[in-house]
Amino acid sequence: APRQLDDFKNYQKARVMVAKYRQRIANQRLDQLQKFTTKLVKQYDIIVLEKLNIKGMFKNHKLARAITNASWSKLVSILQYKCDWYGKKLIQVNSAYTSQICINCGKNNHRLGLDKSEWLDVREWDCPNCGTRLDRDINAAQVILKKGLATQ
Ligand SMILES: [Zn+2]
Repeated sequence: APRQLDDFKNYQKARVMVAKYRQRIANQRLDQLQKFTTKLVKQYDIIVLEKLNIKGMFKNHKLARAITNASWSKLVSILQYKCDWYGKKLIQVNSAYTSQICINCGKNNHRLGLDKSEWLDVREWDCPNCGTRLDRDINAAQVILKKGLATQ
């Protein structure tokens, strides 16, 4: 029978910042990818990834430069088989609004009213609803983790 969430002793500590690394990974060679994924799988019992909207991403030149469909697919497939080997859990969540939702209050801030291109340049922002100062990547990673754990 598949293991239950409660069986993972590090469940409380499970955190992942994969979103933060995804741009870096795009340019890494396979051996670096192997080392990185092994480290992640050994360190964390649960890893949550966004199901990236690759088609949508390529409409934006900044993201298209940073990542290719192939490199992300490779990351996901390597992580999946290593999670299977080590008895860890890989969860993929819908990526909609993950960078726009405030982890503190849960409000979807709809790009702060900016257009898509302007919004992608914003690295830190203040939630208009609760005033929390948010780092774009860390906030998004926390929202992704929360979404993933909510599916369990
Ligand atoms: Zn907020």
